[in-house]
Amino acid sequence: MKPKVLIIYTGGTIGMIQDSETGVLKAFDFKHLSNQIPELSRLNIDLSSESFEKPVDSSEMNPKHWAMIAQIIFNNYANYDGFVVLHGSDTMAYSASALSFMLQGLQKPVIFTGSQLPIGTIRTDGKENLITSIEIAAAKNSDGTSIIQEIGIYFEYSLYRGNRTSKISSSAFEAFASPNYSELAVAGVLINYQLKEKYLQIGNLELFTNFDNRVALLKIFPGFSAKIYQSLFNIEKVKAIVIESFGAGNVPSDDFFKTYVKDYLNSGGIILNITQCNTGKVDQGKYETSSFFDKIGVVGGNDLTTEAALTKLMYLLGKYTSKIEITAKLKESICGEMSLN
Ligand code: ASP
Repeated sequence: MKPKVLIIYTGGTIGMIQDSETGVLKAFDFKHLSNQIPELSRLNIDLSSESFEKPVDSSEMNPKHWAMIAQIIFNNYANYDGFVVLHGSDTMAYSASALSFMLQGLQKPVIFTGSQLPIGTIRTDGKENLITSIEIAAAKNSDGTSIIQEIGIYFEYSLYRGNRTSKISSSAFEAFASPNYSELAVAGVLINYQLKEKYLQIGNLELFTNFDNRVALLKIFPGFSAKIYQSLFNIEKVKAIVIESFGAGNVPSDDFFKTYVKDYLNSGGIILNITQCNTGKVDQGKYETSSFFDKIGVVGGNDLTTEAALTKLMYLLGKYTSKIEITAKLKESICGEMSLN
């Protein structure tokens, strides 16, 4: 029996072809996928496709689109061996992170991919990205289980854990990186899987899409005036704030800032501290400039990416009401998004 893979087209450059007459880029009809990429018929894989009714540039993605993707996968889970999600690269890392919280208990691969050049152009990176993603989505161990049992992003010969990934280039084919977690696979002559450990996924697949997007992101910079951001620290409007701090979690010791942070936490708000460095992690209390955070109950986000931090908070705020519970869950790695040391 051939493995079955469902391709879900949400939009983005990869699904575009150039109209031969006008030169304009337009989304192609995925029912005729093999007309565009005849190589697909040589894969020994049974392919089906589903497309968003209205494909979107990934800059338009929001939690409703994430829920649509998750729902398609959930509805088709029993009938396929794996899934490939074609998605614009701009916010792919957010969507992959969000999906890792929405679909817990995955035992099959969900591989996000896209491209920098449309599939219809001669030098496109889209064909290789798509073909290898399909192969990964169909790949099995000798006992019949899927090799990859989580959300991944495949781009330019590397498969990354989705919720560890960020977009790093708007022009290079190597558009993504996973700075704090090594690749799940590298594709060369063979696809070399190098799984470190599988995070614990207990039980059956569960779908949870009720995200709460009342979260804010504050990136600190030298000379930043806390007063400008005062309105953020309002629990009626903002339930949680991600602070991107310097280095190992440090912030300037500004009295206004300290007061806003303290009052916000006392009023029930949640603050998650992540680093603006690409690699490394937050270590609150290591320096005097972060010990204040540690003492008053700001949660250190260790090596979370911004994408994973924001979507983790949206997930937790949607799922739990108690601040104690949410804070406890922030300190756990729910689906492999964070290192624990
Ligand atoms: N703007 C496009 C998008 O993210 C770029 C891409 O497809 O890579 O949808």
